[in-house]
Amino acid sequence: MSAELARSLEAMGIRSPRVLDAVARLDRARFVRPELRHAAEGDHPLPIGFGQTISQPFVVAYMTERLGLSGNERVLEVGTGSGYQTALLAMLARTVHSVEIIPELSERARKVLVEELALGNASLRVGDGAQGWPEAGPFDRILVTAAGPEVPPALIEQLAPGGRMILPVGLDAEGQVLRAVDRREDGSVSESDLLPVRFVPLTHGHGGGVLG
Ligand code: SAH
Repeated sequence: MSAELARSLEAMGIRSPRVLDAVARLDRARFVRPELRHAAEGDHPLPIGFGQTISQPFVVAYMTERLGLSGNERVLEVGTGSGYQTALLAMLARTVHSVEIIPELSERARKVLVEELALGNASLRVGDGAQGWPEAGPFDRILVTAAGPEVPPALIEQLAPGGRMILPVGLDAEGQVLRAVDRREDGSVSESDLLPVRFVPLTHGHGGGVLG
């Protein structure tokens, strides 16, 4: 359990009781390698292999809070990674569909989410998340956990009216910003920047090129 982590996130400004409660109930140590488990309660990103990281808990909690989940939403996540953020989304929304480009990470996350935690409302797939998951959309909320140079057009298309997407945008790690994209009921879209961040790049599925 991560009650200590939830307390420190509250001290850092996370206010949503639902988000803090989910953080407290979810053991972050399950999502990191055994030799790093002692560090799992700290507010740091940690390596998860393949050059990727489990995101910093404050940023995970902040993004989740900004999604404003009431429990009824269909959520798309891009960048399953360790599956930690996926688990929080599954605890706070109706369903979560999560796309990861590295097959080994998706498989490891599946073991924790499905076999260990029995989160039956989480669906995982391997692929380029910049294309979204068209057959499962539209989505009420979209969360992207890797940074590209722009908001992927396919994700805007899969955002339902009244929906909100949170994603890091920016080419280099120094210049990224966390952005909120809202689709109003009339279909129009507005964007606002929330906070400077540092995420791993969103990569291309085919050809292995790095976008950001
Ligand atoms: N929320 C995750 C973050 C992992 S880091 C966690 O806290 O564990 C971002 C993840 O995005 C990495 O696992 C990386 O492999 C993945 N990723 C990068 N580009 C992607 C793409 N185009 N489609 C899907 N996943 C991608």
